[in-house]
Amino acid sequence: MTLDNILEEINKANSIVLMAHENPDGDAIGSCLAFYLALKQLNKYVDVLVKKYAACYDFMPGIKDVKSSTDVEVYDLAICLDCPEINRVDKEFKQYFDNAKVKAQFDHHARNTMFGDFNVVDQTSPAVCQILASSFEYMRFELTKDIITNLMVGIITDTGGFRHSNTNQDAFDFASFALSKGVNIEKIYRTTLTTITPQKFELQKLAMDRMEFFANGKIAFTYETFADDKAIGTAPGDNEGIVEIGRTIQGVEVSIFLYEREDGYKASLRSNDYVDVSEICMTFGGGGHLKAAGVTLEMSFEEAKSAIINETIKFIK
Ligand code: AMP
Ligand code: MN
Ligand code: MN
Repeated sequence: MTLDNILEEINKANSIVLMAHENPDGDAIGSCLAFYLALKQLNKYVDVLVKKYAACYDFMPGIKDVKSSTDVEVYDLAICLDCPEINRVDKEFKQYFDNAKVKAQFDHHARNTMFGDFNVVDQTSPAVCQILASSFEYMRFELTKDIITNLMVGIITDTGGFRHSNTNQDAFDFASFALSKGVNIEKIYRTTLTTITPQKFELQKLAMDRMEFFANGKIAFTYETFADDKAIGTAPGDNEGIVEIGRTIQGVEVSIFLYEREDGYKASLRSNDYVDVSEICMTFGGGGHLKAAGVTLEMSFEEAKSAIINETIKFIK
């Protein structure tokens, strides 16, 4: 099976590069670092390529070893994590995947394009970290406390702390296993989900203040611009999770959060019940999961706002 092939390639490889999607979340970083520590046990040369990430991930084992650039031109093996397609990785990192002698990927997004030579894709899995937990067991990697901690970060963040509908029995089983190994679940939960920076607090207030409703209160919409970032002094990761605010309001089916980026506006969408937000984002070239998806709209603010709201309205019952 695919995992046997990947293990064979790992064993053969002298140099391995790991990467995940840009603006990495807990699952992206957790899967990179868990894989990194597992491969280091096999005494492999491994680079983990990560650009800016939120400071809440600073406690993660191995985080100090990540690199934002590399001198290696051709790796023996490249492993991409948490990406439905290779263009989701940072523009500068894509070449290292493309140039690698062998390419593998692990993912859980809907409509993965199967872009690797070896693809481990399970849409039903709550997190890539959950896929790695079983894959590592299959490949007989030792699950150290540090590796389990990193995997737990991905599972906790991608399930919103076991609250989203993607939470399954495997997620709870792994949490139970992590507890039995002395992993501090409460600390991971608090550090990655509950604690927010003072800047994020300000951003939340602004986002709430600006919240607008459409389709009889079934769509909640809010936004953030570069001017807000400057005024508040936000750091990477501060806008993560802002989209969740709209979803908590009774009657809201889809919550939309738009935030400015160099290339336009990033739309983050979440649904509560029946709307497949990945389908909405797909129409603009993005993607994601049934109830959590995103897309970058290369448009002005007003264009992006009306485009995403008008498309969402079509899905509201
Ligand atoms: P976000 O709203 O950025 O937290 O993303 C929610 C989900 O959608 C995550 O699983 C992302 O990986 C995915 N996603 C976000 N942006 C895009 C995009 N431009 N293309 C494909 N998937 C995306
Ligand atoms: Mn992710
Ligand atoms: Mn994920």
